[in-house]
Amino acid sequence: MPESEFRALVARQSDGGQTVAVERLTEADLPEADVLVDVEYSSFNYKDGLALTGKNRILRNYPIIPGIDLAGVVRSSASERFNAGDHVVLTGWSVGESWSGGFAERARLKSEWLVKLPDGVTSRHAMAIGTAGLTAMLCVMALEKHGVTPGGDVLVTGAAGGVGSVAVRLLSRLGYKVSALTGRRSEEAFLRSLGASAIVDRADYQNPGKPLQAERWQGAVDTAGGALLANVLASTAYGGAVAACGLAAGADLPSSVFPFILRNVALLGVDSVQCPIARREEAWGRLAAELTENDMADAAAVAGLEDLPALAEAILAGQVRGRTIVDVR
Ligand code: NDP
Repeated sequence: MPESEFRALVARQSDGGQTVAVERLTEADLPEADVLVDVEYSSFNYKDGLALTGKNRILRNYPIIPGIDLAGVVRSSASERFNAGDHVVLTGWSVGESWSGGFAERARLKSEWLVKLPDGVTSRHAMAIGTAGLTAMLCVMALEKHGVTPGGDVLVTGAAGGVGSVAVRLLSRLGYKVSALTGRRSEEAFLRSLGASAIVDRADYQNPGKPLQAERWQGAVDTAGGALLANVLASTAYGGAVAACGLAAGADLPSSVFPFILRNVALLGVDSVQCPIARREEAWGRLAAELTENDMADAAAVAGLEDLPALAEAILAGQVRGRTIVDVR
């Protein structure tokens, strides 16, 4: 393959829908920006599942290379912040939605979106963490800022998924007593290997419940939304907090004000897409300190570009365990 060509998974509009296939592109197919990156690894997130299946109108223009995460080496840069050879990570900023993203061997990106990888963190390790891991760390930081301290009981929902599995690992490593809420009892051994001390059955939380329930959690990371989040709020202890980042169960929130006005419970919103660079750098620094490459190797599978359409169906069906690294080469 000529040096200027590279492989990419491309989504194109078709009659009433979209097609997704691996193609050969050139740099002229990429959008204009100041940094060109040789992508080494990407990763697969729930949002990529929505994008590849054409759900929720994640892809905003065509043709486009999906992939909301990437890590690699700067090939050329017109920015003073980056030099050729720098190792960088990109998550969010609507890349892989309205700007060509990580499911390719090359990407052209705005320098203000990029974070230099902390020393010792490889592209592969960064992508084992990815948007899901970054989001998990942002949730942990939100709980810490609220004053939720190690030693207490915390709950993680969607625990066997990407965000959830990293949140379980991080919180247990930081000294919290972590309960992992899952719809997949078969993942109990996996969740305990991440540090969960108890398993909570999703069935106990997924139907509408009382507005106030027994006070169980000092804090929680919720990836689910819907009635499940309402029940988590209702069972959070006085003064506790819930970091909400996802909608795997639904985008609604059939709750009441009682947890807020009678128990001083805080609902903390967490977004990783527009998160400011300084907070990202802090989060990546902490992820590098808390999670070794070995930790994540155990919790991440590897896929190639050709595998991604099938993986999209599986992640939306809640069948993917932990994290998936995408080897784009
Ligand atoms: P995954 O698919 O890897 O994990 C989601 C998990 O949720 C599943 O593994 C499953 O875990 C659980 N789940 C699936 N269906 C349901 C259901 N109907 N009710 C309750 N739980 C369910 O996705 P990610 O970890 O990548 O993302 C999780 C959520 O967080 C998504 O909604 C995603 O959009 C959101 N997100 C938000 C970000 C932000 O910036 N705010 C960034 C990243 C993700 P189990 O089998 O253990 O129950």
